[in-house]
Formats: sequence, C-alpha cells, structure tokens
Amino acid sequence: MAIERTLALIKPDAMARKLEGKILDQILERGFRVVAMKKIKLDKYEAGCFYAVHRKTSFYDDLTTFMSSDEMIALVLEKENAITAWRDALGATDPAHAAEGTIRHTWGTAKNRNICHGSDCPDSAAYEIGFFFSGIEITRSNPEVSQ
Ligand code: UDP
Ligand code: MG
Repeated sequence: MAIERTLALIKPDAMARKLEGKILDQILERGFRVVAMKKIKLDKYEAGCFYAVHRKTSFYDDLTTFMSSDEMIALVLEKENAITAWRDALGATDPAHAAEGTIRHTWGTAKNRNICHGSDCPDSAAYEIGFFFSGIEITRSNPEVSQ
C-alpha cells in the first residue's frame, strides 16, 4: 500500500458545535499525519468551485450556502491508503446510515449539514489539496508521496 494524502474538512456545522477538538483527536488516534492545517471561510462562489462536481444536483445551492456559512478547518492528512482510510473513518454520507464508531455516526446530525469532508479518489484529492493549500504549505513531505 502506498503512502497517500487526502483533503479533510471540518465543516461549519462541526465548528459551530465546537467539535473540532474531538475530530482532530480522531485524526491523530487513527494514525494520520497532519501535513498542513488552516482555518478558512469560503464565499459561496468558492464553495461552488470546490463542489463543482455536484453543480447539477438539486442540493447544490443548499450545499454551497452551508459550506460558505462559517469558518471551516482544512487539513491535508497523510497515511498509508489515506483516501480510503479517511472515508472509512467518516462513514456513509448520511449519518443515519453511517456505521457505529464512525465520525459521522458519532457526531453527524443530517446529510445536508455534513460535519466532515474526505476526498473520494486520488484525482479529487489532488484537486482539493491544491484548492486549499499552496505548494510551500505541503512541501515538508515524505519523499514517497506524489502530489
Ligand atoms: N449532500 C446533500 N444531499 C444529498 C447528498 C449529498 O446535501 O442528497 C451533501 C452532503 O453534505 C455531502 C455533500 O453534499 O457531504 C457532498 O456529497 P457527496 O455525495 O460527495 O458525499 P461525501 O463525499 O461528502 O460523502
Ligand atoms: Mg464527495
């Protein structure tokens, strides 16, 4: 298995509920290395660019309003098989269907106010990491990792 990087977001709902400490604990306890981390608030246009893949869905407008409603924490996480490992840690998109012990099952309240994001494949991870972080912020790297 290769060392990978993935983009995680602690979304506005989690921030409003002061869950960022608990989610950071989960990240560390589950063996991810935090390569980079920043607090950031997107505007609606930027949120739309981040979620451009969903632009034709019925939930796009609500999603981008939610994603631009408050600050988030963006993180680049590194681990063997990080993309799948972080998605597994999150659980299903709808917290009602997320497995016990997952982050979304434990703290999630509703599918349309998701508490965390995780990239879903290597191409998405590359786009999403580049969306939030510049090269110099993620340069302190493991040489095995390709961006
Ligand atoms: N979402 C929604 N309604 C839906 C499906 C998704 O509001 O029917 C939101 C949800 O907050 C999710 C985000 O859109 O986190 C992106 O959806 P995706 O299918 O990419 O889920 P994820 O990758 O976050 O599990
Ligand atoms: Mg997704």
